[in-house]
Amino acid sequence: NAKEAGKARYSRYDVTMQQLAHERLNIESNVLQALQRNEFELDYQPVFDLSPGVKQTPVACEALLRWRHGDQRIAPGSFIHVLEESGEIIPVGYWVLQQACQQARSWQLAGQTGFSCSVNLSGVQLQEADFCQRLQQVLQQTGLPPRTLVLEITESVLLDQAGHTLPNLREIAAMGVKLALDDFGTGYCSLGYLNRFPLDIVKLDRSFLQEAHRNPRQATICRSIIDLSRNLGLQVVAEGIETSDQVEFLLQESCCLGQGFLLGRPMAAKELQRLWAMGL
Ligand code: C2E
Ligand code: MG
Ligand code: MG
Ligand code: MG
Repeated sequence: NAKEAGKARYSRYDVTMQQLAHERLNIESNVLQALQRNEFELDYQPVFDLSPGVKQTPVACEALLRWRHGDQRIAPGSFIHVLEESGEIIPVGYWVLQQACQQARSWQLAGQTGFSCSVNLSGVQLQEADFCQRLQQVLQQTGLPPRTLVLEITESVLLDQAGHTLPNLREIAAMGVKLALDDFGTGYCSLGYLNRFPLDIVKLDRSFLQEAHRNPRQATICRSIIDLSRNLGLQVVAEGIETSDQVEFLLQESCCLGQGFLLGRPMAAKELQRLWAMGL
């Protein structure tokens, strides 16, 4: 009868929930040890100058965290929040910064002069009183010129300026390190925020670009973000380019910098090096 059926359905539901909870617990209990176990790695996604006729070699890259867990390689979406909630993102974040700066500097020394690298920051990291001091240390130790480091933050960081966030942002800018607003348009910032904070770059979120070449209203939104950013003196980098139609659209709008699976997936440092070797 219906009651029995309902019960059966619930118990099946419970099993699924249990499995999910178990999986989550598994991730939570293991990811907190990942740093000391040396299980984190960085992939680098190349950023390209899209202008026609420009040699297709990367002009910059974005460092993206990966967790080598057993035989899996786990993307940050499923564990970053665990690191944030536990505070473990602080040491992990410094590790990412150190690794990425070291890698970028070694590429520069190998001949990729001016090549810049982006590092994603969590809001929690920016609340720390000594963030800029540690950043300065990393720059000195690695010898990376500040102008070639980009720190990416999301709108939520600007909305919730907890702890030392605001003084840190100002000091980062004063040090000459660039600041990028990631996933722009997906959060709740008002447009005025683009002017109120010392930003250098706006990253146009993938979700806006997805339909822009075939949906006039999406196109209008993209165009407005690109124009507004440019008129405020900000550089625009398009994210998540998957088709050549999207490249065409961006070029029509004079947005000449972008990254995406069409151009290059996130890859190991050695693979990125091969892209240059091919371009030479
Ligand atoms: P994000 O900073 O917006 O990074 C771009 C994400 O889009 C990456 O996912 C990348 O693999 C993916 N992507 C790039 N091109 C394409 C494309 O053409 N199509 C599609 N569908 N996706 C594309 P990933 O590596 O899974 O990272 C997810 C997010 O995790 C990042 O989003 C960033 O917010 C966060 N994250 C990554 N590394 C770090 C880190 O070291 N620290 C912190 N705090 N957050 C990180
Ligand atoms: Mg990013
Ligand atoms: Mg992004
Ligand atoms: Mg995005």
